[in-house]
Amino acid sequence: MASVPNTTQASVKGEVQAGGAWLTPARVVLAAVLLLCALQLFFRVSDARAHGEVEGAAALAMIEQQPAASITPTGQVPAALQASLATVFTPRNGVLSLALCQGAQCSSVFARPGALPCESGLSWPALCVAVPSHVNIGDTLKVGYDLQPYLWSALLDLGVTIVLGAGVLLVWRGKQAAPQAVAGKAGSPAAAPAAGSDRDPLTGLLNRVAFEAAVKRHNETSTPSATGETDGCLMYFDLDRFKAINDTHGHIAGDLVLKAVAGRLRYTLGNGAVIGRLGGDEFAALLIDVSTQTTIQQMGRVLIEQVSKPIQMGGLTDSVGLSIGAFMLKRGELAVGDILHRADLAMYEAKRGGRGRMMFFEEAMDAASRSRAQVQIDLSKAIQDREMFMVYQPQVDAFDSIRGVESLVRWRHPTRGLVSPDEFISIAEQTGLIVPLGKMIIELVCADLVALRAQRLALPYVSVNLSLRQLADPAFVDEVQEALKRHGLNPTDLEFEITESTAMVGQAAKETATLKRLAEMGFRLAIDDFGTGYSSLGRLLDLKVDKLKIDRVFVAAITKPNFDPALLELMISLAKRMGIKSVAEGVENVDQVVWLRQAGCQMMQGDLYSRPMNHSQLISWLRLQEGDNDFDEGVWSPTMTMEESEV
Ligand code: C2E
Ligand code: MG
Ligand code: MG
Repeated sequence: MASVPNTTQASVKGEVQAGGAWLTPARVVLAAVLLLCALQLFFRVSDARAHGEVEGAAALAMIEQQPAASITPTGQVPAALQASLATVFTPRNGVLSLALCQGAQCSSVFARPGALPCESGLSWPALCVAVPSHVNIGDTLKVGYDLQPYLWSALLDLGVTIVLGAGVLLVWRGKQAAPQAVAGKAGSPAAAPAAGSDRDPLTGLLNRVAFEAAVKRHNETSTPSATGETDGCLMYFDLDRFKAINDTHGHIAGDLVLKAVAGRLRYTLGNGAVIGRLGGDEFAALLIDVSTQTTIQQMGRVLIEQVSKPIQMGGLTDSVGLSIGAFMLKRGELAVGDILHRADLAMYEAKRGGRGRMMFFEEAMDAASRSRAQVQIDLSKAIQDREMFMVYQPQVDAFDSIRGVESLVRWRHPTRGLVSPDEFISIAEQTGLIVPLGKMIIELVCADLVALRAQRLALPYVSVNLSLRQLADPAFVDEVQEALKRHGLNPTDLEFEITESTAMVGQAAKETATLKRLAEMGFRLAIDDFGTGYSSLGRLLDLKVDKLKIDRVFVAAITKPNFDPALLELMISLAKRMGIKSVAEGVENVDQVVWLRQAGCQMMQGDLYSRPMNHSQLISWLRLQEGDNDFDEGVWSPTMTMEESEV
């Protein structure tokens, strides 16, 4: 079973793997081979030198037996000596030349045909060795010793060393590939794919094709697992915040993150797992011999913890999160594509559930995914056929005066009936259909507002929810302007709601430019679902936001046991201090209103006042408010500003 190591140890080694990627096994073996080659050469040359010295000492002894005068460098070398030297120093013993020297003055006493005079060091093919005389101090015999046999022998040794080095590398690679070649481990005849071609070049993990092939072999083998309880688990990984890393720090930093994550996955999962990079920031692992979901759960926790640790990218440090989908497999039950799809679905649910978590596949996820796919198919047709309409929910101030309404889209599906935006807005955002859908929503809102005013009903503004994709659309502002013009409306007639996370995304991006342009043109901006995302106060001020809409989870908490008012009070006072109006969303009962008013919340919206109404219901509702004496004081007048009404 793959082990779950001690986290600190895992982290340290993970960092080493991530940071020390240059220390690959191939490089280590190459360095060792080069070192051995250098040592071989060194020892061979030393051997040649030693032999040269021995031969030189023997020659010197022979020379020194001659009368002194005849062997001085200036004297003639006796023919008898030359002859005896030639008999002793046959071509076999390697001496190529002998020269007797007094200081710098040398005289050749023996030389093989073609041999160069021995100078010093290397006189190819001879190594020049100087042997000092112990009889005539100051004399030296320079021996030209043949290096060639030593070099041939060294070359032979080098060849053997290189072959051995390559062998070690191949064996090591084979061992590394062993867990990857699951089928081989499980007894299948299928061999592991050839090293190199099956790897993702960036991370060194298996690429998608090789990973799927490994899962297929595992799936097709009939050998039962060691534990007998399960046939393994497929884990599907997706990084959280990876896009932000690429957008903020660039693609080189993104690559470093992917490498670091691959190293951490490899180390944490150990040898009992086949790991692959499926593309982008998606990875997957096949865990063999895992017995229970509990083991996987524990492993998932460690993986999330490890991957989420800060990553060094040159001078920068940042971090990503990890969402995991897990599918416990039964061999041969499903095709590889279905196994991956199930793990992917579970991962998608992990993302939807808030990221940085692991989910196991459940059958319901498959049904949900099919239904999402169907929604996606139906949605574009629905936009064309104008199956959408708007409903409106009033927003009132502290005096119950109607300030405006929020528009909420509804889909009248031909077979499914009314579909809520929760089911299709996120799909529209993912597919880009939100752009034509958003355009249609603005059109519908403008038409409804004009029709309402035609009935002489007062309504200061309609608030419209916007998505990030709409803000990134370069045509958005012009299209809104055109729609207003067509319907004879002004920017002050509309307010745009953007969620807290949308407002905080892309500090210098086109979304920000669009928001600023909208604010400059006179449209009001409201931050929706405030408190559920993250905010930078500087950015809120910079965007000239008009309202903070406090998310309904905080409002709902007011009437719950153990209610802690700290967060709500903080949000209301923050809005007040920033000169921004606070709006409580999802107000459902009078106790909430009492608490919110007393805490200084300026506006309310929720089912207590009215559930979202269609256009004709809104008209009747507004009429009722006008006619209702209890409301008289609070009825809004188009010329009255909020501040005036508060006086
Ligand atoms: P949101 O903008 O925060 O809208 C408020 C949601 O809370 C609405 O749900 C509304 O019906 C619901 N709500 C209001 N008062 C209460 C209450 O007292 N109790 C409870 N339990 N719920 C209350 P709805 O209409 O289902 O919309 C859900 C989300 O879908 C919206 O959240 C918004 O994010 C999105 N959405 C709706 N219409 C549009 C649209 O036209 N464009 C875009 N981009 N998003 C939209
Ligand atoms: Mg909203
Ligand atoms: Mg909201």
